[in-house]
Amino acid sequence: VETVNARNVIGIVPGSDESLQYQYISVTAHYDHDGIKNGIIYNGADDNASGTTAVLESARQISSLRKNKRPVIFIFFSAEEKGLLGSDYYVNNTDYISDVIANINVDMVGRESSDTIFVVGSGRISGEYYRLVEEANKETVHFHFDYSYDQEGHPERIYYRSDHWKFAQKGIPAVFFTDMHKADYHKPTDDAERINYEKVEKVTRLTTQIILKTANLKHKLTINNSNFSSNQEI
Ligand SMILES: [Zn+2]
Repeated sequence: VETVNARNVIGIVPGSDESLQYQYISVTAHYDHDGIKNGIIYNGADDNASGTTAVLESARQISSLRKNKRPVIFIFFSAEEKGLLGSDYYVNNTDYISDVIANINVDMVGRESSDTIFVVGSGRISGEYYRLVEEANKETVHFHFDYSYDQEGHPERIYYRSDHWKFAQKGIPAVFFTDMHKADYHKPTDDAERINYEKVEKVTRLTTQIILKTANLKHKLTINNSNFSSNQEI
């Protein structure tokens, strides 16, 4: 067994309302990929430079707007590709995890059509979150939301395959955006010249809007489906 040290990278934009200072919105993207195998570099432009770029730019927007009442935590996870290790460590070693009220996770958002994005998980724990995410889209970029991978029992089990799942296991409403691109998935050809930058920009605006709406709700998101369980495994 070889031990490798890895780090999650975290930044917080404080909220403006003192009374809501312990209700956090988490926005996440993994920054690791497959590294070098047999001398070949796996750049992971879509998986997941695209998502980290969207989250970083959204962090810049939120911190310059300063319109969030609740604090927003931006997290870049490591070791997602090794089995969600960075996010697993985070949710199980963070003393305020029960004060995190929502998660937005962005993993692979720079391929395929700029008009469509796959949306996974938004309604599984909170119907209110599902509606909020829909509204945020209508107020901004008007993606066609494709929920086909969100169906219970889908053979590809996408709901369990990126970092939002670790938040959902804790009962935290979580939404996952992905392009589900297959052509260069985990191949050394997942490179920057194949990225659809317009799509990454749209996901950024959508993410910022979801953050602002969730951070400024009068109440915490209503949890109306406790029909999940940490035993429900990958
Ligand atoms: Zn990924």
